[in-house]
Amino acid sequence: MPVTMLMYHVIATPENAAEARFCRTPDEFRKDMEQIRQAGYHVLSFARVLDGIAGKIKLPDKAVAITFDDGVACAYENALPILQEFDYPASVFVVTGRVGGYNEFTDAFGFPRRRMLTVNETRALAGSGVDIGSHTVNHLWLGKTKDSVVIKELQDSKKALEDILGQEVPHFAYPFGSWNLPVRDAVIEAGYTGACSTISGRNHKGIDPYILRRSEIKGSDSPWQFRLKLKFATNDMPPISDARYLVSQTLKKWS
Ligand SMILES: [Zn+2]
Repeated sequence: MPVTMLMYHVIATPENAAEARFCRTPDEFRKDMEQIRQAGYHVLSFARVLDGIAGKIKLPDKAVAITFDDGVACAYENALPILQEFDYPASVFVVTGRVGGYNEFTDAFGFPRRRMLTVNETRALAGSGVDIGSHTVNHLWLGKTKDSVVIKELQDSKKALEDILGQEVPHFAYPFGSWNLPVRDAVIEAGYTGACSTISGRNHKGIDPYILRRSEIKGSDSPWQFRLKLKFATNDMPPISDARYLVSQTLKKWS
């Protein structure tokens, strides 16, 4: 059965309106985890997702994976304790050039400065069983970046994390979901075994492991929207489509 991969960014209360879409409060995040449990989903590590789509293991009927982009310190401060409560595996994709610093790469979008994971926090996450992947050195739009820089971003971030953790770092996520075929090939060339995109949809057996699908969980998602994303791995559901969905479901019941 296909796997839904969820994408989170910040697990904290938003500090301004621009950031709100990317923030899930710790309470909302805990409720998401409760819904996963109540709906009977198995939470898989990134490595098991890759084994599943490669046909090496049988994927459970209801399977989901949890990922966090950017490596904001709240992954350690706020998300980790909740993941541990539920004993759920997860992946955190770290922008290595910002380890121990701040998220300047989102300044242009009007987001507030947030503290990024330190070296020690990154190690502590890995020590707690969280999979640490690369999200490049500088959070660039790789699809619009020249080849030599793409290669350097992929190689240098991998090596930086491997130096911090003392272990292989085989997983990657494209910043801004920006990729093209040469970028995908460079990810393979750099030695990664799988990469997450931001294309929505479920991950079926046989899907390209370097363009994995993810469903973005937004700050505005209601509990039932989360449930729909878990089930259908959709992304954008503006209010009008929610209303249409409800109407169509109601009509179905009556017909
Ligand atoms: Zn990112």
